[in-house]
Amino acid sequence: MEKIILPGLLPDEITESLNLQQKFRGLQIFKWIGSGTTSFDQMTNLSKDVRQMLSERAVLRSSKVTQTLKDPDGTIKLQITLSDGRAVETVLLTDKEGRKTACVSCQAGCAMKCAFCQTGTLGLARNLTPAEIVEQFLFLEQECGHLDNIVFMGMGEPMMNLEGIRKAIAVLTDKRGRNLSGRRITLSTSGIIKGIYDLADNGPNIRLAVSLTTANEDLRTELMPVNKGNPLPELRKAIDYYAKKSGRRVTLEAALLAGKNTDKESAEKMISFAKGIDVNVNLIPWNPVATLPFTEPSNSEVHFFVNYLEKAGVNVTLRTKRGRKIGGACGQLGKTSESSDK
Ligand code: SF4
Repeated sequence: MEKIILPGLLPDEITESLNLQQKFRGLQIFKWIGSGTTSFDQMTNLSKDVRQMLSERAVLRSSKVTQTLKDPDGTIKLQITLSDGRAVETVLLTDKEGRKTACVSCQAGCAMKCAFCQTGTLGLARNLTPAEIVEQFLFLEQECGHLDNIVFMGMGEPMMNLEGIRKAIAVLTDKRGRNLSGRRITLSTSGIIKGIYDLADNGPNIRLAVSLTTANEDLRTELMPVNKGNPLPELRKAIDYYAKKSGRRVTLEAALLAGKNTDKESAEKMISFAKGIDVNVNLIPWNPVATLPFTEPSNSEVHFFVNYLEKAGVNVTLRTKRGRKIGGACGQLGKTSESSDK
């Protein structure tokens, strides 16, 4: 009999799937899972018989960490093998103030084919289950202690696995368990308009980031094929709708590619896109991937772009380079999947 995978379940679902006679047992187990417990033996408020039954019929993890890579800058990347042998990566980022953020994957591979992203070269294998998403967070907490934030910016396009993400968020934010706040959760999309409206209308109310890259329509289509069906004027309307409906400022992300999207014209187009809607622009100097035909921007290119936007009154932040030595920076994830996919 296949074992029940517990980390993607809410208390009532645990009770039901295990056919527990005492309803409160499901809640007790849920609380233990949220606290990071990795063995049924540690669930000391359950009788020995219940713990025995759990070890026969259920598991606390469906996936396993196969490698832990540590960058001297504090970034940690876990390579995780899923139950079907596929691999994903999850990253811990620590900012200057010491806040810890889990950057988790929502798909094995990705179908979106963004030209500047390692994961985009893999193609899509499949969506991750809610349990596989929650487990990434739990693995990172096991490795590094309490985490402050979670961002869906790892491998995959979150809007293509929105139901899986919703369920994982329901588990992680449940007050009876891990109790993570919605304002500590960010979903980053390549710009799927339908998904943005869906999230705005049906929740959960979390932070949204959109990987804009450039506000030049032709260049965006070249760099991000998603742009064909999700053109910039419609995308801008959806972002405006999300910011108003959620009451949260939206982040526009732009990977800066040398000689591609860093000139004056690109800056002006970005300003026109950003003005009049509640956004901040997060610029990310491209993190090199040896197999991709781009170059990291020079410091002067980056500073020109930052200053140009700032002078026009746009809220701008510049992402610090982190995790590059372990292939854990933005756009670099996926080597594991590539090598372990059969
Ligand atoms: S940037 Fe995101 S959406 Fe685009 S290919 Fe990479 S993982 Fe997929």
